[in-house]
Amino acid sequence: MKKQSLKGLSLKELQEFVESLGERKYRAAQLFSWMYAKGAESFDEMTDISREFQAVLSARATLEHLEVVRKSVSPRDGTTKLLFRLHDGMMIESVLIPPEDPDRQPDSTKAGKHSSGAEQRLTLCISTQVGCPLDCKFCATGTMGFHRNLSAGEIIDQVIQAQRSATRRITNLVYMGMGEPMLNYDEVMRSVDIVTDGRSLNIGARHITISTAGYADRIRQMADEKRRVKLALSLHSLDNEKRTKLMPMTKKYSVDDLIDALEYYYRKTRHRPTFEYIPFDGFNDTKADIKRFVRLSKRVPCKVNIIPFHSIDFTEPSGFGATLKPTPRERMEEFAQALRGARITVMVRSSAGEDIEAACGQLAVEEGRSAKRLAGSKNAVPKKTTPGSAVN
Ligand code: SAH
Repeated sequence: MKKQSLKGLSLKELQEFVESLGERKYRAAQLFSWMYAKGAESFDEMTDISREFQAVLSARATLEHLEVVRKSVSPRDGTTKLLFRLHDGMMIESVLIPPEDPDRQPDSTKAGKHSSGAEQRLTLCISTQVGCPLDCKFCATGTMGFHRNLSAGEIIDQVIQAQRSATRRITNLVYMGMGEPMLNYDEVMRSVDIVTDGRSLNIGARHITISTAGYADRIRQMADEKRRVKLALSLHSLDNEKRTKLMPMTKKYSVDDLIDALEYYYRKTRHRPTFEYIPFDGFNDTKADIKRFVRLSKRVPCKVNIIPFHSIDFTEPSGFGATLKPTPRERMEEFAQALRGARITVMVRSSAGEDIEAACGQLAVEEGRSAKRLAGSKNAVPKKTTPGSAVN
């Protein structure tokens, strides 16, 4: 009989499972807490479960966990990149991000950050797929191609394993690593429902952000389902033609489709989405782009995160991707200031982790070939993270 993999099951599903083994329901709550709150990696660790039931569980179920292959810490800002091996040898990355230095934020959010205890925050950026099928021209992950979706168990285990590496509690999660969360919607939402449970990792839904390249139908679904998680949209251009060049998925959902879905989202949830915007020199950082943005903010109340373009030269981009250059810092600040002038809340993100290729868009682990090599040699460490399976 095939063993049941337990990580990723909800409490209700665990109850059904233990009942199918002839055990009482409360055993499920014990399992749930051992797996998700205490991060147990074997049934023997579950000391309040009888030896007999531990033996039944070992015979009928598995408790897989991700293996940490490498941990890189940025000497500059403490950002930590974790490279994980999955049960089939595939590799993914997650990034632990300490709070930004508030002195680098030029606007009034500064004071608020100190008083809101932002310095206590610890954010984990997690992956939802091995690689990504979207091929955004500025993103290293896209160069790896798509390998497979992660299971909810694999998504949650990134948090459990990262928590072991961390010196304090992970308070925030961003689904912004490798992959497109909306293309793995069910497993992503299943993982959200588990990590927000008070008997599990107990991470507040308002401390979780799901970032999408723009799957309008899923944005509507999220609005209908009323989970309290936050939504971020990787916008990067409001001009349909330009956005299609940057993000070919715009052919499926146009800028207009997206805006309609975002309007719906705001109407239903009253939550402002965050727009992520990478200014590219002379491409999407002009006065006309600012005008479009201001017009949009009248329709959809929003916050804007300006992300500096992080180099992906290590992927040796060609074609249109090779022409993209970051807007100079000074002009990026002017762009931000112009939006603030239109009463839009704007943050200019720092490039935490850039020195260890852990910044947005830089996550890319070597694909199949090297994953197999690594799987064959337990102590092998990849020379460098290069395009393969990427995390953003
Ligand atoms: N697929 C999802 C989540 C992964 S991308 C999405 O598109 O939102 C996470 C964030 O990193 C996105 O905002 C993406 O636009 C940004 N990003 C990707 N490549 C980048 C790069 N080279 N420099 C800066 N940000 C990048």
